[in-house]
Amino acid sequence: MYGVGILKGLGVTIKHFIDTYVDDIRYAGRKYMRQENFEVRQGLKAQGAFTVQYPEEKIAVPERFRFVPFLIVDDADHPERPGHDWCTSCGICAKVCPPQCIWIVRGENPQTGRPIPEPEAFFIDIDICMNCGYCSEFCPFDAIKMDHDYELASYDRTGAHIHDKQKLSKPFSYWRTIAPTTAAEEAEARGGWEHTDVIKERKKAEAAAAKAAKAAAQAEQAEAAPEAEAQSEQDAEAAKAERLRKREAALARNRARKEQENQNDE
Ligand code: SF4
Ligand code: SF4
Repeated sequence: MYGVGILKGLGVTIKHFIDTYVDDIRYAGRKYMRQENFEVRQGLKAQGAFTVQYPEEKIAVPERFRFVPFLIVDDADHPERPGHDWCTSCGICAKVCPPQCIWIVRGENPQTGRPIPEPEAFFIDIDICMNCGYCSEFCPFDAIKMDHDYELASYDRTGAHIHDKQKLSKPFSYWRTIAPTTAAEEAEARGGWEHTDVIKERKKAEAAAAKAAKAAAQAEQAEAAPEAEAQSEQDAEAAKAERLRKREAALARNRARKEQENQNDE
């Protein structure tokens, strides 16, 4: 029958219209007071209209959401390397970046002039970045990650959109906050929560300590060996003397027995 589809469609619209008010009454404004309410209100269980009143309302982004990249540095309260760059300025991210929007200046040792594994400068043009995440995927040191901060619009389309090292650098704890599952998976693959270099150094130190302990144990064993040898020689001598004594005693007994027999014959 003509018009049934239109009536069904209108029915859906009216249902959403009514559900919107039912849900509003149910939450009675509390959705703005608690983030959990807001998530439920705008989540899969939501009823009615789904319009988010941005920027007053913001839906939390999923963990795998990605916007422009940022660089990981150690936390300011890190015991060994506070604020240290994880980036080694290897340049792989710049090579794989499809639109070529990454520039890296490699650090140099001022005394020797030789390159050091940290960037002196790092720039990303976020107007060119297409948020593909290749840089983050290819980085061998887990040093560049995709951010969740998407509110980067500004009236300045020049310098403000070229993020320098200072602007790009964010502490490792921030990465653990926005992507806890991925951060845990990466830490498991690396063998710890620390930077690859720190883990390597720690493993090296542990291996050196184990080697030194083994060498000390071997030296102790070698020192103890002559004493044990001397003791075993002494024991062998004593056993030999005991055997001789027993043999002499047996011979003496034989001799005595024979003499006794001779005397009896006479
Ligand atoms: S996300 Fe993609 S486009 Fe943006 S800097 Fe990384 S590799 Fe380049
Ligand atoms: S961010 Fe990663 S891939 Fe890029 S230069 Fe630094 S260490 Fe290399």
